[in-house]
Amino acid sequence: MNYAVEILNISKTFGKIKALDGVNLNVEKGEIVALIGASGSGKSTLLRHISGLIRSDRNNSYINVFGEKIQFNGNLSKDIRKIRSHIGFIFQQFNLVDRLSLLKNVLVGNLSRMPFWRSWLQVFKNDEKMQAMEALHRVKMSQHAAQRASTLSGGQQQRAAIARAIVQQAEIILADEPIASLDPESSKRVMKLLRKLNKKNGVTVIVSLHQVDYATKYCKRIIALKDGQIFYDGMAEDLTIEKLQDIYGAQFSELSVSDEDYDEDHESFNESHQHKDKFAKVKAML
Ligand code: ADP
Ligand code: MG
Repeated sequence: MNYAVEILNISKTFGKIKALDGVNLNVEKGEIVALIGASGSGKSTLLRHISGLIRSDRNNSYINVFGEKIQFNGNLSKDIRKIRSHIGFIFQQFNLVDRLSLLKNVLVGNLSRMPFWRSWLQVFKNDEKMQAMEALHRVKMSQHAAQRASTLSGGQQQRAAIARAIVQQAEIILADEPIASLDPESSKRVMKLLRKLNKKNGVTVIVSLHQVDYATKYCKRIIALKDGQIFYDGMAEDLTIEKLQDIYGAQFSELSVSDEDYDEDHESFNESHQHKDKFAKVKAML
């Protein structure tokens, strides 16, 4: 079985709101997928279901992560801790513990493999520290290892969250609008890191993004949610302006297209002129 995630018939109702409405979706191992859609379309709810942070409605349904049921028919798996140890989750904010050093925050990525007393006493072995330093080096943050997390910028905090997922040896990263509060330069660095982990280490990535041009630039496959349903699932280059208008509806005018200049890095998926032209057109329409 080559699926990282299999989702069958997931619905979620909050009071009168149907946040997810019969979602079916498979993501293969090693894919990098962007999740887009207007605000309130269900992106966060879907990502939270995949990591077992919330349970679906009690109909016939399941979510498998690497072939193991994380939830089914609205029940969470008993092995949820074990399954979650494969999943790195990155939020828009609040990824780190403010009062701890960057190094400790990254070491926490290993908690699920550590005896409780050691994690509680914050006793880390030298090789664990080395691993954490290596991960920090990969995200170009090792010089900040001793700093308190609260002193880091938003972009640095997100890179640290990625380092933590590396230490955790996460096989899949679920990132919920990780660049929503970052400047363009930091956003680009974070997206490049996710892309690199995907390409070089085969980590499966599902990332929800408000900035559509980042989504199509860094991710091959785009999934768009609308009113809790999958409205588009296809290649980034096939996402036309008309489809974007349909996906965002009344929110189209709030569509976020970044101001960045497209540089000649080789980490991104789509550097074509067509791609640039498309978003120049979208921008002109806003
Ligand atoms: P997105 O991440 O795409 O902006 P969400 O998944 O956060 O969308 O939300 C989808 C819908 O579900 C929205 O209408 C939102 O208000 C509602 N919703 C999400 N979480 C809750 C909750 N815990 N309680 C009540 N309603 C919620
Ligand atoms: Mg959200």
